Amino acid sequence: MEASETKKLSQKEFALASVTDLSSPSVSPLSSPVVASFSCVHGVTEIRFHESEAADGFSFDLFSAQLFKLGRMELICISDGSGSSKENSFSRGVIIKFRNEKESKDFFDAFEEWRKDAVVQGLSLPNGTVLANKSKFDDKIEASSAKMYFHYYGQLLHQQNMLQDYVRTGTYYAAVMENRSDFSGRVVVDVGAGSGILSMFAAQAGAKHVYAVEASEMAEYARKLIAGNPLLAKRITVIKGKVEDVELPEKADVLISEPMGTLLVNERMLESYVIARDRFLSPNGKMFPTLGRIHMAPFTDEFLFTEMANKALFWQQQNYYGVDVTPLYGSAFRGYFSQPVVDAFDPRLLVAPPMFHVIDFTQIKEEEFYEIDIPLKFTASTCTRVHGLACWFDVLFNGSTVQRWLTTAPGAPTTHWYQIRCVLSQPLHVMAGQELTGRLHLVAHSAQSYTINLTLSAKMWGPGAGQGGILQTSSCKLDLKEPYYRMSQPQTYTVAQEPQPQQQQQQLLNPQGIEIQYDDLEEVELMQQPPRDAGTQL
Ligand code: SAH
Repeated sequence: MEASETKKLSQKEFALASVTDLSSPSVSPLSSPVVASFSCVHGVTEIRFHESEAADGFSFDLFSAQLFKLGRMELICISDGSGSSKENSFSRGVIIKFRNEKESKDFFDAFEEWRKDAVVQGLSLPNGTVLANKSKFDDKIEASSAKMYFHYYGQLLHQQNMLQDYVRTGTYYAAVMENRSDFSGRVVVDVGAGSGILSMFAAQAGAKHVYAVEASEMAEYARKLIAGNPLLAKRITVIKGKVEDVELPEKADVLISEPMGTLLVNERMLESYVIARDRFLSPNGKMFPTLGRIHMAPFTDEFLFTEMANKALFWQQQNYYGVDVTPLYGSAFRGYFSQPVVDAFDPRLLVAPPMFHVIDFTQIKEEEFYEIDIPLKFTASTCTRVHGLACWFDVLFNGSTVQRWLTTAPGAPTTHWYQIRCVLSQPLHVMAGQELTGRLHLVAHSAQSYTINLTLSAKMWGPGAGQGGILQTSSCKLDLKEPYYRMSQPQTYTVAQEPQPQQQQQQLLNPQGIEIQYDDLEEVELMQQPPRDAGTQL
């Protein structure tokens, strides 16, 4: 808020008929001449009721106060007791009576104006002076979602699942150790420290001090684990709380974090990462990782498409124990096609070279994560049916010594993120060389995930194309929070998808493209791990 506006609203008084404190009805009401004064002192905007000559009376913090009309000359003011002046943490109410209707209306309007001002002040205080009882995190995330989310990460088994993703953890280790000069003698903040593993990597690389911030109960385990490594423990402080809320005693030279979810942005933790950047990082500080890229390409997969369409066939029965279940067929079909598919697929299913969308963690504003709009343009490299869009991500550790990428691409060693595919219920036909255009539109929701809107179009090949062509368009809407985890299914991909009877029976490929025999399938199933967020569908 501008300084001049603060001055304009520094003090204002209203004459009243009487004021009754509902919290102590036994105390006789303040009676004429009684006044209400609005004031703003040291960033706290309040209203005080007192007899005009007396110093005592009582006040309400306007940040948490509300006013209701009881009659034309009577109002009630209620405060939930959670404002900045904590001397009284109980709810409080007063009935205010006016001498005439005009004074009642003027007071009401002034109250609204001062209250607006109080809210702006409360939200724009310097970092960490927490006046609001709700943090930036609580404002945008449903309490029930956050509760499940932090409960999930509070359990060792889920941290173990991430630790055992050796591609992930090994790449972080290499990125830190190869860039010792970025850590040595530096202050580091580990954003969402979990078990504290990245804090310990930073300490091993010579960090002067590491603040390990973790909101879930895992913070207690991290303390225990770190204490068991005394050489590192001296230089690590675990702080339990959200990065949006906690205070740190000094600015950081480096932030380290693993905030990526499926499709990079799932879980909405990247927003916490950039909030931590704005709150804790020194102007020329480094971020590990530094940027992320969402990669996208159209794919063909008759096998997956048939599998999904078949799931809804149950609802085509007219006599299920004497009940016709067909009225729900359409809803079931749409339900299956609103789930993004999470699994590792063979990159040969891609029908065009991929494109990517860059997110620079050092520059992006937190609000820019709320809606992500990506225009799509591909050139088909083969003649086939396109069943949807395949997506994966990578992140860059832009160290001073070595630049290292962590990739979740199909064909690369599988990670616990696998890849994600948005399947169209109406496939498109394309010819080699044909252009595919469209849009991937991601809208964040309060359950720590995104609604995905995908549209793909292909201009019809053939005589019509010259005259502007006929457009085939297909779209779908999916909830990234409700994926279909398909990793436990045997991957029955052959080199080409055309029927090749001999080969189809015998030669199967795992996600790394290594040939395996049919008999080995059971083992493949056992090797697959649930993804990071399998249990809670984050
Ligand atoms: N850094 C660990 C854990 C990564 S998982 C590792 O690499 O193994 C992400 C962790 O961040 C979870 O433990 C989760 O509880 C925590 N987290 C997510 N959002 C947070 C926030 N806003 N503030 C603090 N911790 C958060």
